[in-house]
Amino acid sequence: MTENLAAFLYLIASVCFILALKGLSSPESAQSGNRFGMAGMAIAIITTLALPGVVSYGAILAGIVIGGAIGTFVALRIQMTALPQLVAAFHSLVGLAAVFVAAAAFYTPEAYGIGVAGDIAPASLVEMGLGVAIGAITFTGSIVAFAKLQGLVSGAPLVFTGQHYLNAALGIALVVLIVALVTGQSAAAFWALTAVALLLGLLLILPIGGADMPVVVSMLNSYSGWAACGIGFTLGNNLLIITGALVGSSGAILSYIMCKGMNRSIFNVILGGFGTDAAGAAAGATGDRTVKTGSAEDAAFLMENASSVIIVPGYGMAVAQAQHALREMADLLKEKGAKVTYAIHPVAGRMPGHMNVLLAEANVPYDEVFELEDINRDFTSTDVAFVIGANDVTNPAAKTDPKSPIYGMPILDVEKAKTVLFVKRSMASGYAGVENELFFRDNTMMLFGDAKKMCEEIVKSLD
Ligand code: NDP
Repeated sequence: MTENLAAFLYLIASVCFILALKGLSSPESAQSGNRFGMAGMAIAIITTLALPGVVSYGAILAGIVIGGAIGTFVALRIQMTALPQLVAAFHSLVGLAAVFVAAAAFYTPEAYGIGVAGDIAPASLVEMGLGVAIGAITFTGSIVAFAKLQGLVSGAPLVFTGQHYLNAALGIALVVLIVALVTGQSAAAFWALTAVALLLGLLLILPIGGADMPVVVSMLNSYSGWAACGIGFTLGNNLLIITGALVGSSGAILSYIMCKGMNRSIFNVILGGFGTDAAGAAAGATGDRTVKTGSAEDAAFLMENASSVIIVPGYGMAVAQAQHALREMADLLKEKGAKVTYAIHPVAGRMPGHMNVLLAEANVPYDEVFELEDINRDFTSTDVAFVIGANDVTNPAAKTDPKSPIYGMPILDVEKAKTVLFVKRSMASGYAGVENELFFRDNTMMLFGDAKKMCEEIVKSLD
């Protein structure tokens, strides 16, 4: 394949990736977006395999078979609710790959056409230095994010005095070591740079608290894009540079949008250490206060007589896979004359867009699904807020308790509805580990049970 043809095909693949991102920005066009993405990736792979620089098809095939088998095995076994940690784990591999590619280029620069050992082009050394720094930060940062999301280490922020100064010192050390690498070309500078970046990755993510993990996952997504972009420069592959930059910038934009959604400053999240004294402390601590409980029949009766119902889905709906039963319930309510809408909080569930994906899977019409800012005012004029497996995203502590780890996050104002129904299994707290005051309010009725079973029972009662 000629260089020009390869460049042309890479351009087509890049356009496909841009169209994929455009398509994925709305549920209606997501499927066509996915198709563009797959087509772009197929073009990219075939073109790369046809490049004259390929040395061994055998090794590539072995990589595809082994990697593909592991990927398929993991993807088939993973629960939808565990996707964020899977994504974090995959990001760590991108970071590690960037470090390996940089090391390979450093030791065998001839193979990459960037000079000879000890006399590598300075521009390539700068790219290599940046690639290895971002890659190593992505690697350890993603491992910490994985461990936090998987519950292997505490989700509570790990904060210590002087943390920001230490991180700043490590940041400066990175710059100094990149300069040393470019000027001295020594292996010591290369590995010292790698070690400092690995440490910085750990220290940047450890202090980030549970409720801010969504932003971390999307930030690491962005880092992994920039790491791939760095690999692209080292390998001299334009498509990798473009794709890496697309992933890097879209991840950064998503992080910014999520920070806005959670009322966080992106710099604070990156620097870590959100208030967290209360995190985990109040889980399930009900004291001697009482809550009003009800049954599926009670819920059916209330909703049957309601003229408007807003459904607020959360992580528990995903765990219970209750979306189909929920939709059936909503259909029956609509038949009985109620106006039914869905309110989606930007960080409901465990990954961006989690609730939208589940509701789309159950064929809930898109025009019934609203984002927080578009529906929050409607709770005041609503008869029933049906909160199914959501907790943190409705917790008024975010508005009233400055010590709460979720303080400042906008919430869905469900308590303004005439009646609030909470479907969950117990009094346990949500992801952020904070007790929800709403459970004890007069206009709240707790419907204890698995979300799917509860919806099915409500459907039976409505029938
Ligand atoms: P929460 O984690 O606050 O609450 C979920 C609730 O679901 C729990 O209180 C639990 O209570 C209940 N539940 C669990 N299983 C079931 C079941 N089978 N049936 C019924 N209820 C069930 O979820 P939210 O969606 O309200 O909030 C999301 C939280 O996750 C936020 O803190 C957010 O920051 C964080 N997060 C979000 C990410 C994202 O990208 N969206 C990524 C990572 C974290 P019980 O045990 O009593 O049933």
